[in-house]
This record gives sequence, C-alpha cells and structure tokens, in this order.
Amino acid sequence: MIDTPFKSATHCTAGPAARPEPVRTLCGGPYDGVADSPGFVTEITAMALVVRLHRYGGPEALTLEQIEPSAPAPDEVQIRHTAIGLNYIDVYDRTGLYATPLPVVLGREAAGVITAVGRRVRGFRAGDRVAYVHPGAYCEVRNVPARHVVKVPAGISDREAAALMLKGLTAQYLLRRTYRVQRGDPILVHAAAGGVGLILTQWARALGARVIGVVGSEAKAELARKHGCRHVLISGRDDIVASVKALTKGAGVAVVYDSVGKDTFMESLDCLRPLGMMVTYGNASGPPPAVSPLELSKRGSLFLTRPTLFSYIATRAELEAAAKELFAIVKSRKVRVRIGQSYPLSEVAQAHRDLEARRTTGSTVLLP
Ligand code: NDP
Repeated sequence: MIDTPFKSATHCTAGPAARPEPVRTLCGGPYDGVADSPGFVTEITAMALVVRLHRYGGPEALTLEQIEPSAPAPDEVQIRHTAIGLNYIDVYDRTGLYATPLPVVLGREAAGVITAVGRRVRGFRAGDRVAYVHPGAYCEVRNVPARHVVKVPAGISDREAAALMLKGLTAQYLLRRTYRVQRGDPILVHAAAGGVGLILTQWARALGARVIGVVGSEAKAELARKHGCRHVLISGRDDIVASVKALTKGAGVAVVYDSVGKDTFMESLDCLRPLGMMVTYGNASGPPPAVSPLELSKRGSLFLTRPTLFSYIATRAELEAAAKELFAIVKSRKVRVRIGQSYPLSEVAQAHRDLEARRTTGSTVLLP
C-alpha cells in the first residue's frame, strides 16, 4: 500500500536515532525534474530517520531506522518534513485493526518543504511549502505522488497544516457532506476535546449548530466548552441518552458524530431524533457491534453511515475543494488549530502511549 520512497535501511538499536549531518546540494543534480527551478539550493539530508513497523503490536513495535532518501519518481515530489500529524488511525495501523502488508511506514499526514520534483510534475517547485494526506508520513524525508499534495497558504503554520490535513479534512466532509449541518441543528460529538473533535466542534458552531460534546474528564470538558460546545457531558459520569433528551426537550439530535465505536454506538443511536443520521467514523474503544437494520427502523427510520475520508477526497478536484474550504475557515479564525502537545519524531512510541491512554488533547504533532 505504501510507496517505497527509500533505497536502503539500517536498523537502529533502542533509543533515539542519531541525527545525520545535512549535506548541501544543488537540486537538479542527482534529482530528476527540477530543471524548472535551476540553481535552487536546498538541504538534502544524506541519511534520514524513518519509523517502520515490522510486526503488529504495542508502541514498542515502532522501529527507528536510518535510510537514504531516493529521488522522486516522475509523478512524485520529495518533501522534507517539518511537522507530522499523529492520528488515532495510526494506532489502528500499528495494532493491525486496519491491516496492511508489513513492513510499513506508519503516519498519514504531514507538512514540509519540497526538495525535488519528478519530471512529469506540474504546479510544484522546489521550495514550496506543502502538506498532504498519504500513508508513510513517519519520516524526515520522503516522496509523495504530487496528486495528494496541496500548497499551504500564508497564515497557516507548518504545524497547523500537519495537524489539519487528515483531521481537518475529516471535519470538513463530516459537517459539509456526510450530513450537511444546518443552523439550529442539535448535534452530538463524541471525543469532543480530541484532534478531530476540537476542529469539528468549532466548525459546527460556526455553522450555527447547537453542539453537545462528550469527553472523558472535567478538564477536557472545559476545553470543549471553549471550542464550540454549548453543553458538555462526561462519559462514565453522565447518563448520555437521558442528558441529550433533556437538552433537546425530548426530541433527540439531528446527527451523532461517533468516533469512539464499541462503547458508545448503541447509546448514540438512542440519542437521535427520527430520521436522524448516525455517523460512526472511528473505533477508539474498539469496532462497533453488528447491528440489524430493524434497530434503525424502531428508533424512527434512522440513517446509518460508516464513512472514511479517503472516499471523500478520491479525486484531485475533491481534495482541492475540501482543502480550500478548510484553509479558509482556519484563516478566518472561526476554527483554531489547538496543538495540545508535540514530540520529537524519535519519541513517537511515547506519543502513541499518551494518545491511547487518553492523555492528549486537541492535535498532536511529531517533529523531525
Ligand atoms: P483523538 O485525539 O480524538 O483521541 C481519541 C479520543 O477518543 C481520546 O482522547 C478519548 O477522549 C476518546 N476515547 C474514548 N474512549 C476511548 C478508549 N477506550 N480508548 C482511547 N480513547 C478513547 O484522536 P483523533 O482526533 O486522531 O481521531 C479521533 C477519531 O476519529 C478516531 O476514532 C479516528 O479513528 C477517527 N477518524 C476517522 C476518520 C474517518 O474518515 N473515518 C478520519 C480521521 C479520524 P476522551 O478521554 O475525551 O473520551
């Protein structure tokens, strides 16, 4: 599934990998296709850090390796990462819930600077500040098919862009395409203080929705209130269904965005009003149970969908339109990207531990 952006690999023993010395080189030498930027001098690291998975398992299965970056293929750009987004999906990839052939480089979103351009690529030059969603992001330098890459506009930092591509594009399709949120809609958002959660709640408020968030602690509740939630419920303390019914005068919500899965799926169905939309888009507590269509009928002709971002940005036109809308709402400051914590890339295992232990808030970035 992952392209192979590297020529060779050397395993590191335990602990952070030693950083390679950068060598200055002239693009257009060993790299194809940079003739459109003659004389552009950039730094190419001779060896680069990459995080590989050779077997499914816990955070300890993440292996630090040194590789020699290869030149981009004709349709690729080479990117030197400045920030890499951490996502709960990376945990599913690591444990094998989302199985992929091994070995594999984990990570699905990042931002950085183009260091070389394949000869068939149009519209990008060495030096461009870019971001993307594509597997294989846990590394310092890599090649990515140019069709997955977008330029980052001024006013949005690299760290924000790295946190935004997967999580922000997810919020975009959930609110604007899966269920088109209308002014006044009561909506329920699980994991409201998380990476996707804080973007989703702010954007939903900007659309005029009445957002009810669910979080795991009082501290997270405070954060969710500051980022768009009108009401916040605490899982394990509050009766979610009864509270949602009380907050909506018995009616229920128009849509539930449920990324928790197994622990919350059935009660999420019970929170919906007739003809409401159940969006189950994640499995933080495990995959949701199998459900009979009759369960939807008896709760009032509900709709059920299990979407994934990759269906919504399958074409270049869809990716560009979604990224344009996302960058616009961030630049308008209606949605602020809250980076709750960052880790050196070499400490990615600790980042995974904290994410799984529910110790993170907002977005997390890994820094090469
Ligand atoms: P988050 O930052 O939201 O982290 C996960 C959060 O889930 C935790 O902080 C925790 O918040 C909550 N949670 C509830 N139960 C558990 C549990 N048993 N174990 C661990 N966490 C739990 O992660 P992301 O923003 O990266 O992703 C959010 C969700 O969105 C994920 O489920 C992910 O798979 C999904 N997703 C789906 C996409 C799609 O297209 N389908 C695309 C992108 C993300 P609290 O303590 O407040 O309960």
